[in-house]
Amino acid sequence: MRRIAPLVFLWFSCIALVAQTSTKPSIRVEVDATDPGRNFFHSKLTMPVSPGPLTLAYPEWIPGNHRPSGPVVNMTGLHIEGGGRAIDWRRDLKDMYAIHLQVPAGVNEITVFLDQITNTGVAGGSGASASENVLDVNWNQLVLYPASANSDDVQMKASIHLPDGWKFGTALSVAAQNGSSVEFEPVSLTTLVDSPLIAGSHYKLIELTGAGESPKHVIDLVGESDNAINMSANDIAAYKKLVAETGALFGARHYRQYHILLTLSDDVGGRGLEHHESSDNGPGEKALTDPSSHLVSAGLIPHEFTHSWNGKYRRPAGLATRNYQEPMTGDLLWVYEGLTEYLGNVLTARTGLWTSKQYQESLAATAAALDYRAGRSWRSLGDTAVSVQLLRLAPGGWQNWRRGLDYYPEGELIWLEVDTRIRQLTNNQRSLDDFCKNFHGGQSGPPQVVSYNFNDLVRTLNEVAPYDWAALLNERVNSIQPHAPMGGIEQGGWRLVYNDTPNDLIKATEGVAKMANFTYSLGFWVNQESGNFGDVIVGSPAFTAGIGPGMKLIAVNGRKWSSAGLNAALVAARNSKQPIELTVENAHRFKMYSIDYHEGPRHPHLERIAAKPDLLTDILKPRTQSAGTTRSF
Ligand SMILES: [Zn+2]
Repeated sequence: MRRIAPLVFLWFSCIALVAQTSTKPSIRVEVDATDPGRNFFHSKLTMPVSPGPLTLAYPEWIPGNHRPSGPVVNMTGLHIEGGGRAIDWRRDLKDMYAIHLQVPAGVNEITVFLDQITNTGVAGGSGASASENVLDVNWNQLVLYPASANSDDVQMKASIHLPDGWKFGTALSVAAQNGSSVEFEPVSLTTLVDSPLIAGSHYKLIELTGAGESPKHVIDLVGESDNAINMSANDIAAYKKLVAETGALFGARHYRQYHILLTLSDDVGGRGLEHHESSDNGPGEKALTDPSSHLVSAGLIPHEFTHSWNGKYRRPAGLATRNYQEPMTGDLLWVYEGLTEYLGNVLTARTGLWTSKQYQESLAATAAALDYRAGRSWRSLGDTAVSVQLLRLAPGGWQNWRRGLDYYPEGELIWLEVDTRIRQLTNNQRSLDDFCKNFHGGQSGPPQVVSYNFNDLVRTLNEVAPYDWAALLNERVNSIQPHAPMGGIEQGGWRLVYNDTPNDLIKATEGVAKMANFTYSLGFWVNQESGNFGDVIVGSPAFTAGIGPGMKLIAVNGRKWSSAGLNAALVAARNSKQPIELTVENAHRFKMYSIDYHEGPRHPHLERIAAKPDLLTDILKPRTQSAGTTRSF
């Protein structure tokens, strides 16, 4: 979940494939998705069984979520039949995702019916799966499978009934279609869960592949209106460039075809979820049409596409689990997500979706936000990764003290440091691009998972440029670091500064997220409409004065508050000895707080260090010559 509100770090997050053989259990799943407006999906599963005890599992640990987020509370209407009779089931007393039953003698096939309620999001707090105009099917919500099985070993034959006239996009191959009923070629359970389907009454397909090129890359768009899915020629050229640039960066592709699934809706989406042969992107209804929304969400697709290599093909061993019931371990998420964040944003600049200046503004905003994380004093970056299952749904209030999913943005800073260090060590002859070719390249072909551990990472870095990478990375990840790692920015020839000029990315985010960011001056951000303080930085002037998150801003120096009014008060306080007076409501009580602050507005930016080579600008240079030229492999 990324790029919608960088300050709050609601980053979007995020299987294997084997050849199918006839000896594997084969489950037929038929989905009725004809009631999208009520977010009510119906699933019928037919599976071979043997008489005796059987435990079925509802997927719990969802890839890309890195946590037990399978929405089992929304699995309803469960009914199981075999041999023409209902079969009783009972839930495991400790494992809420396990369903026990006794298959009667003589029964060798059962039928399972379930209804999935999808109005509360697939990734937790990420919105509904469907509206009157679009739907986003994640198959993990619609299946049960033998609890003891490897997901690679379960064969699935899926079909779906869509609303009349709707069109769809998915990485699954169509076996047959009859109107709005679609049947897909059999795949493993792993591949099915890794292959979401989007559909809508407004649909568009954009080919990114040039004539004679392979593999095929397309964008499937669905949205709330035809206008919402109307992608500009510049954007289309940039996404063609993205295909070319990833080819140049990684040197191989680990998919048979790739679908960028793009849902333009404020009712559905609000997330990005990576898959091996597709990505599920929901940046909001106005992402293609509103300049602020476009700027804020520009990095989403490059991020999710990068995951096909970093996260899907190369995966930390602790995240490469054999099925959806085995717990995941997130200790290397600063690679899985952090390196993806770094490469995704670099690609956003290399493709022209961001200018170099916009990339710099984003990097400055990220570095500043992390440097104002008060919780750095007690929690290591590594602990934010290990704690993903706690932090993903943590509220925004006191986030600076708790820390959030910091392994995304701080991973970006760490990998920038690694990139610039390699360049320093090799006289700018080698870079992180060489690491990516070695680590993520290899042989092109269908999806496979190659897992890795910390030592594999260090070994590959040493092959690119010998250095004590283990010590550097251990210090950055596992020790308490009071300040954000600025080494990459400074080795890149730049430094973080604060001045009066608003930061372009923060300003755009303020508009999209309806918040006003005074983090680097008074020490808080506040909801522009409600006046509620979202977070108050521990140790900041506002915190010292006694203000906390959850309180509500009413007035500034006696006048009803507004973002512009508060900014004007900051400017005026610069030449005054008077404190800034804030009237604040806290649980139905009003109180005046005096903030003795006179440094004016402060916004983060990058500034050149003239004496150092400008490596950052080198990093952002495209690796391919022209837009829209795809390299074939
Ligand atoms: Zn991600």
